[in-house]
Amino acid sequence: MTDKKVIIRTQGLTKQYKDITAVNSLDLEIYEGEIFGLLGPNGAGKTTTILMLLGLTEPTKGIAEINGLDTIKETIKVKKTVGYLPDHVGFYEDMTGRENLRFVARLNDIKKEEIEDRIDNLLERVKLTNAADKKVGTYSRGMKQRLGIADTLMKDPKIIILDEPTLGLDPEGINDMLGLIAELARKDKRTVLISSHLLHQVQRICDRVGIFVDGELLAVGPIDTLGEKVFKDKNLTLELGISPVDDKLISLIKSINEDVKIRNEENRIFVESREDIRKELIKALSDNNYELLFLKQSGRDLDDIYSQYFCEKEGVKK
Ligand code: ATP
Repeated sequence: MTDKKVIIRTQGLTKQYKDITAVNSLDLEIYEGEIFGLLGPNGAGKTTTILMLLGLTEPTKGIAEINGLDTIKETIKVKKTVGYLPDHVGFYEDMTGRENLRFVARLNDIKKEEIEDRIDNLLERVKLTNAADKKVGTYSRGMKQRLGIADTLMKDPKIIILDEPTLGLDPEGINDMLGLIAELARKDKRTVLISSHLLHQVQRICDRVGIFVDGELLAVGPIDTLGEKVFKDKNLTLELGISPVDDKLISLIKSINEDVKIRNEENRIFVESREDIRKELIKALSDNNYELLFLKQSGRDLDDIYSQYFCEKEGVKK
């Protein structure tokens, strides 16, 4: 990813509200064309970060740049580059989806002769053609969110920022929304920044995520390597089903790393270690004619990040 162009950059970005530090010295780089998930529990500072990126609130310290533009000094240019879907989209409920988009088109100075075609294409893209002439007040939350995506696409932005895009959607709505968001990057080659406290939902389409807690970025990276960074000081526990379980087995495991702690519970072997010894362990078992029935790891994976930072803090349901 390092050869990619950085399109969103913050340096020492800080927002202080009296005695609350909503965002604390945030250094972040997001690459062109990626889907980046800014993930953290409620109150972590995600929305405040987004507002600073959009130039809608001034940082107390630090800088935020979008496509090389200073978000505070060049707010108008930034607005042309970025499409923003807030967590609560405000449409006129007594107007139809099409009428709402027409209104958005005029606000964005789209040429009169282009407006209707543009609206038809966007409605088709977000699968709302059949509901185009129904009042938005009759739309489900999922339909309103999809109309929100059409709204953000009206000005054809290079970058799209979505605040909690899957919040309050049913499983089908979540899938539709995530599919649509994925297309914005994969098909259109836009850069997408998603903020969410629903790690399990959003992580499946993100190229990289940042775990954001109490205004600070704990770790950034692809989801499968994040656990190791966040829990680098925590032991890794392996649960193994091995046949046979005999005295030699324990000394075999100890021979790989003598610092490991081993527990035998009803023929399930638990091996706790600082190092990841999975490869060596599997090889040693196979070389010594033990059969490996299963191997599970815990202590440094996504579920651990999730329960430590997201469930415990907010009582979020998985
Ligand atoms: P949520 O998803 O609940 O909005 P978040 O991660 O987006 O969470 P923020 O809304 O950015 O978090 O809030 C971060 C912290 O800053 C919270 O403690 C919040 O109470 C505080 N905060 C946000 N906006 C203001 C404000 N205008 N005045 C004072 N405190 C604020």
